Amino acid sequence: MEVQLVTDIQKFSIHDGEGIRTTIFFKGCPLSCIWCHNPETQDYGQQFMWNQEKCAGCGECAGACPSGAVSMDGHKPVTDVNKCGICHTCEEYCLQNAREFAGREYTVEELAAEAVKDQPFYEQSHGGVTLSGGEVLARDMDFVEQLMLELTKRGIRVNVDTCGYIPWKNIARIIPYTDTFLYDIKLMDSRLHQKMTGVGNEEILENLIRLSKSKAAIWIRIPVVGGVNDTDRNMEETLEFLSSHSITPKWIHLLPYHNTGSGKYPRLGQKYQGRDFTTPKESRMQELLDMCLARGYQAGIGG
Ligand code: SF4
Ligand code: SF4
Repeated sequence: MEVQLVTDIQKFSIHDGEGIRTTIFFKGCPLSCIWCHNPETQDYGQQFMWNQEKCAGCGECAGACPSGAVSMDGHKPVTDVNKCGICHTCEEYCLQNAREFAGREYTVEELAAEAVKDQPFYEQSHGGVTLSGGEVLARDMDFVEQLMLELTKRGIRVNVDTCGYIPWKNIARIIPYTDTFLYDIKLMDSRLHQKMTGVGNEEILENLIRLSKSKAAIWIRIPVVGGVNDTDRNMEETLEFLSSHSITPKWIHLLPYHNTGSGKYPRLGQKYQGRDFTTPKESRMQELLDMCLARGYQAGIGG
């Protein structure tokens, strides 16, 4: 494929690997985590988003739409996404910037050109580019490999942030171009994993074992969600899994849940299901961190 959909290119990121990085968020993910703070990255296609708080109810969008996809319900524009041809006309007419589409098409050359702009910062800080999402390895792998080739041949180090729920061949294919894998482990109880993310964890754990055997550099990332996986038991089982398979990540990062993405759900016309989740207290995060350190892992909170 010549183009792929990207929802965001985040510059000067310091949380997706070493140093200063540019993080590219690809659209589409095989998981649908209930706590996801980037829900606009889950679907594989472009998606309409409407921000009610910004909308002035002027009706310009309804008047401008060439497909008759927008009608006014009083001062509220109602968009029929089945009629929408994603022509972006209403976006241009909306002076309040209340209308947008998640996902913009990029070529390999466009993404590489964007990433190269900050190469001096990568070199000073031991940083680089992180391919994230969504799930980058669920996109067209010819595209992903070509992008990684373009970046690495310029001397830019590339990290891959993955949920691990993808065919092993996709992972194996990009190992030669990957500096570090940021690999998520969410839950050790597969039934709960299925309930919270939409899929079981067997393939994810199996791929991690194989990746470790390949000697790739791995950072484990664990989103810690209060009321879901912030238990001693889940942490003990995670650490036991790592040690029993001789998986030696360079880092384990514990990422406390936050609900900052909850406002995006209504903009997508979706309901946020994670209202009962809580941000773990600092003391609880420290206890979980101590469990990692006690096993001899280099670990931190955040990152
Ligand atoms: S993107 Fe185009 S077709 Fe879709 S609602 Fe806006 S103006 Fe109408
Ligand atoms: S043009 Fe923008 S501000 Fe006006 S009704 Fe449409 S979405 Fe709301």
